[in-house]
Amino acid sequence: MISVEEAQAIIEKHISPLDVESVPLKKAGNRVLARDIAATFPMPRFNNSAMDGFAVCAADTKGAGQASPVTLKMVGVSAAGEAQDISIKSGECAQCMTGGTVPTGADAIVMVEHTSGFSDLQTVQIFQEAQSGKHIRIAGEEIKKGEKLIAKGASISPCEIGTLATFGYGDVPVVKKPKMAIFATGSELVEPGNELKKGQIYNSNLYVFAALAEESGAEVVTLDVIKDDKCSLRAFLSKAIKTCDVIISSGGVSMGRYDYVREIYKELGVKEHFWKVAQKPGKPIFFGTAQSSLIFGLPGNPVSSFICYLEYVHPVLQDLQCQKRSARYQAELTTEFPAEPQKHRYLFGRAWIDEDEKLVCAPTAKMQSHMLTASLESNCILRTPPGEKMLIAGDKIELKPLSWQFLR
Ligand code: AMP
Ligand code: MG
Repeated sequence: MISVEEAQAIIEKHISPLDVESVPLKKAGNRVLARDIAATFPMPRFNNSAMDGFAVCAADTKGAGQASPVTLKMVGVSAAGEAQDISIKSGECAQCMTGGTVPTGADAIVMVEHTSGFSDLQTVQIFQEAQSGKHIRIAGEEIKKGEKLIAKGASISPCEIGTLATFGYGDVPVVKKPKMAIFATGSELVEPGNELKKGQIYNSNLYVFAALAEESGAEVVTLDVIKDDKCSLRAFLSKAIKTCDVIISSGGVSMGRYDYVREIYKELGVKEHFWKVAQKPGKPIFFGTAQSSLIFGLPGNPVSSFICYLEYVHPVLQDLQCQKRSARYQAELTTEFPAEPQKHRYLFGRAWIDEDEKLVCAPTAKMQSHMLTASLESNCILRTPPGEKMLIAGDKIELKPLSWQFLR
């Protein structure tokens, strides 16, 4: 049996980032950016108005007020999207709409609310003094040309989508989605929606994996439930190995009489890199490779397979997509946490900010590896390395947030 650190190091040696592809901006959401994105032009691109109003020489409006308006001569209209060049001199002004180019010679915009309005096309009365620079968006004040906007490896969220669109990226270079095969094994498994007979249980792992794979940005190519029989396992796996970057299974990798998964992996030429890691839950985890597929045999107990996915499979999918790995934090326990002398111990947990603004946490009350409903109360995974002593309230522990629970 190897340690968690050894297992992680072995897996890392077998990861090579996936290729790049170009996708239309509309399809780029949740993908991972494959190149740094720089500003192809300054933002704003040209001096433009932040208000609907009049472009003026600020000095002309000195002393203007409700009772002492200044009258200026109108020389043109600058609307958003219009290409005409307008220029003004002292004593002149131009109507200038939000987003419209500021005419040459103007150094301020007076809001239309502080004037006699747009209706007179010859002159306008200004009822308020303007300050030089007021309501003008200056070219390059937000971003300079060539400035780095988004770093390679960023997940494309609505924020990145907006920036990519702003700078005209109609197509976006992204990392290919990892192709994934998922299967659950167990002759006792019945699909939700059907009736259970004696001794049977519903298959939950497959649905958890599918939902997690979506979170990880993977493309699930095949998803299947396989009875504990060697023929079906062989048929499924030989196809998956040819087509997928990552294969994950649940169940059938332990010491049971019908646990054939490891045997069939090996029979099909999968090179075993480890089987069994010093951790609770999830001890019988298997990792192997075949061609360019990374293959994980995760244990069948629902909490074990969930936590093993988050600790082993999710980071691999992040690495394949050149994404930064999820951060871990230190938090203070408010209750006991059962450390194991020889193993890493993982539990679903809940973290929150207490009244002293401190990040605190506690494991869920249901601690056994078949108790999947523990996940409902959780927003993180807590883990502690091997240790003789039970951790107590006030001790620090490492936590990893469940990304989709953030702020919930
Ligand atoms: P195994 O690793 O195959 O020995 O399974 C360990 C435990 O997890 C057994 O109680 C199984 O019935 C249960 N189990 C295995 N696969 C699933 C699954 N897909 N959904 C829910 N429970 C499962
Ligand atoms: Mg089984």
